[in-house]
Amino acid sequence: MKKLLSRAWAEIHLDRLKNNLDELKRINDNSQTEIMCVVKADAYGHGDKHIAPFLESQGIKYFAVSNIIEAQTLRKCGIKSDILILGHTPPDYAGELAKYDIIQAIVGEEYAAKLSEEAKKCGCIVRTHAAVDTGMGRIGVSADDAQACANALARMYRLEGIALEGMFTHFAVADSTDDHNIAYTESQKSKFFSAYDCLWEMGITLKHRHCLNSAGGVLHYDSRSTLVRYGILLYGLMPDNSLDLPVSLMPVMDLKAAVSYVKTLDKGDFVGYGRTYCADRKITAATIPIGYADGYARALSNNGYVLINGCKAPIIGRVCMDQIVVDTSGIPDVCEGTVVTLIGKDGNEAITADMLAQLYGTIGYEVVCGISKRVPRIYYGADGVIIPE
Ligand SMILES: *Cc1c(COP(=O)(O)O)cnc(C)c1O
Repeated sequence: MKKLLSRAWAEIHLDRLKNNLDELKRINDNSQTEIMCVVKADAYGHGDKHIAPFLESQGIKYFAVSNIIEAQTLRKCGIKSDILILGHTPPDYAGELAKYDIIQAIVGEEYAAKLSEEAKKCGCIVRTHAAVDTGMGRIGVSADDAQACANALARMYRLEGIALEGMFTHFAVADSTDDHNIAYTESQKSKFFSAYDCLWEMGITLKHRHCLNSAGGVLHYDSRSTLVRYGILLYGLMPDNSLDLPVSLMPVMDLKAAVSYVKTLDKGDFVGYGRTYCADRKITAATIPIGYADGYARALSNNGYVLINGCKAPIIGRVCMDQIVVDTSGIPDVCEGTVVTLIGKDGNEAITADMLAQLYGTIGYEVVCGISKRVPRIYYGADGVIIPE
């Protein structure tokens, strides 16, 4: 294969993405709720320039991102759907927002006023959805008092230069099956729809009101939400590892590398910075050209494992910036160039990003978002294998 494959690479499987989307469409069937695909952070590290067009080709009409650069990237690669920025954009970008027909989240009333001023200055109209804080404590007008929240939204609605088309809130614990947390999510929902109802009684109807993230869509579905904002489940990972969900998903990203060096260590030989590993017997070891600069966490030092020829090979010593060493004792046929699976399946063994996350106390989201730009993404789809650039 091509030269870039000789180091480390991520394989992005579009057939699995399709499987996941179809599963989410299946459980969403017969509802009024439409799917909004969350492709922020470069589609959770999978590559938004490839993921978003594929999803749009599968009938998706709504996308969400975290900032204006991500939104413009989608427009530049031909996305025609609605694009919502979930976070803050400096108000002086009003002209850009309008030019690219991007929907901006309103983080608060003061922000709405500033965005309106900037939009009026350049004679444009910015489409917006108001963020409502029902208990995430991040952005949005508080919905603790439903009428006060509705009043604030009504004031935004009347501002010139911005068109308020929707309102949304975000759940803090939708992925928890603990009774207190289930009650918390239900209270978030009820605050949100109470505010919506007050607004409606004031004669203002918004096209969109949405509160569901991945865990919300599957565990707290509510037909009053016009959109469900699916992120992590699209990529085949779990909002929480302990969840047993009624959908059959496949992780979209595999992470691979090729062995760069094979050797024998004698009893007493050390490996890596800090000499944290010392062989207690004669072993065989392989060096693999991937490290924390690739997003393979240093916290996996002496802790994680990789798969080689269908067998587990434990990481020995510290994860360096560009390399790791693994114990390959007892694994047949390991040589320079042997393909190593860091995330994915090999024979009967599998390591998912969720499993890797558990090894060092994080979540699968952080693992896939953290795979750095140095790692080329290779796309497997109906058109064969695509290696960008
Ligand atoms: C990231 C994000 C989502 C998607 O969350 P998942 O758990 O990945 O589904 C939805 N809504 C908002 C506001 C977000 O920031």
